[in-house]
Amino acid sequence: MSTLTTRCVIAGGGPAGMVCGYLLARAGIDVIVLEKHADFLRDFRGDTAHPSTLEVFHELGLLSDFLALPHQQVRHLHMEIGNQRFTVGDFTHLPTYCKFIALMPQWDLLDFLARKAKAFPNFRLLMQTRAATLIEERGEVAGLHAQAPDGEVEIRADLVIGADGRHSTIRDRAGFVPREFGVPIDVIWFRLPLEASDPTEPVARIGAGYFLVMLYRGDYWQCAFVVPKGGFANIQREGLSAFRARLAAIAGFAVDRVDAIQSFDDVSLLTVTVNRLLQWAKPGLLCIGDAAHAMSPVGGVGINIAVQDAVATANILREALKRGRPTLEQLNQVQARRELPARLTQTAQVAIQNNIVAAALALQGELKPPLVVKLLRWFPVLQRIPARLVGIGVRPEHVSRELLRAKQPSA
Ligand SMILES: Cc1cc2nc3c(=O)[nH]c(=O)nc-3n(C[C@H](O)[C@H](O)[C@H](O)COP(=O)(O)OP(=O)(O)OC[C@H]3O[C@@H](n4cnc5c(N)ncnc54)[C@H](O)[C@@H]3O)c2cc1C
Repeated sequence: MSTLTTRCVIAGGGPAGMVCGYLLARAGIDVIVLEKHADFLRDFRGDTAHPSTLEVFHELGLLSDFLALPHQQVRHLHMEIGNQRFTVGDFTHLPTYCKFIALMPQWDLLDFLARKAKAFPNFRLLMQTRAATLIEERGEVAGLHAQAPDGEVEIRADLVIGADGRHSTIRDRAGFVPREFGVPIDVIWFRLPLEASDPTEPVARIGAGYFLVMLYRGDYWQCAFVVPKGGFANIQREGLSAFRARLAAIAGFAVDRVDAIQSFDDVSLLTVTVNRLLQWAKPGLLCIGDAAHAMSPVGGVGINIAVQDAVATANILREALKRGRPTLEQLNQVQARRELPARLTQTAQVAIQNNIVAAALALQGELKPPLVVKLLRWFPVLQRIPARLVGIGVRPEHVSRELLRAKQPSA
């Protein structure tokens, strides 16, 4: 077994772990990020960088390099109820540098962060390395054991950050049990071909018994078909033709392309979970991102909340980590800062899941546009409110001046 020593070890190379690793390394702190996969390619997990995330990149001077990568820009959100189309979000008036959502595959975002972080000599990214157990000494976490391709590695650190997502190993090993919020829906993901005459902005199609979101991805449509919890088994039982017929009835301009789904191997089921820890930290350990609060895909805000957690963590703990081991009080400050945004966002997500999405799925007959959607059409200025909630959210984080001014370690 090999042994490594560092100031901070982060389990999980998702948005929370990679942004936190980048920021701490930039501030001159020795940091190791562990990612259990060999690369950042995986099933669709959300591809959105919201204005709040783009603002952080702008503050860090990373924005122009980031936007040089292939992406699409979303300035409005649309909803189709029956055959009526409504604009429900307008990002063009946000008080942010970028007045749009950037749609980019998550692996491109993570590769980008890894490239930027690797420029710092005090940053190490260990791929194919799975955090397995915690090292505990005198009642404090003092590091972790991980499984690497060439055997077990012991990593001793002043701080372990659990950024290992909704099925967090670190959270389990710490004995933290999240409070679960029941979720009545699951999501089936698949792609449909694009044609030159198609619109280029995302659209949510809602009606009695269905909810389909279509995201324009430059050369295909990424589609999310929402089903009642456990509903995918029924769809499989009914067979592919019945599924295609269901899609054709609601796919609008893409009606002639549902045959692109050749088998159920072309679709993937993603189980939706919403939960939150009561306690995010113990001596020597902190959980952030989905490990502390698994987000629903509603609003597509999970990546951005994870990024905001990472910024708050670096802002709050940078000074302490320079000197050594942060105290429990300092670790708790991260929870104190980020719990409210997570709680309010999850409350809104659960309300939308239960009262709009699940209600639409259970409805028989015709779905009438709700008053709030009509108000957004009558008074377009109101479209800025949902855009602000989705694009910036509650308590947006900014990279602290001290962190921006910190002398950057050079390779
Ligand atoms: C179906 C679905 C669609 C979504 N769509 C969107 C969207 O469009 N926009 C949006 O903003 N959010 C979306 N979300 C939410 C979003 O995916 C998460 O909130 C966000 O990815 C959380 O980031 P994270 O870094 O905390 O965790 P994750 O992104 O889950 O990253 C955790 C990382 O840790 C790694 N890991 C896990 N265990 C270990 C271990 N033991 N050792 C080492 N590494 C480990 C994983 O491989 C992973 O790379 C969606 C979620 C779902 C389920």
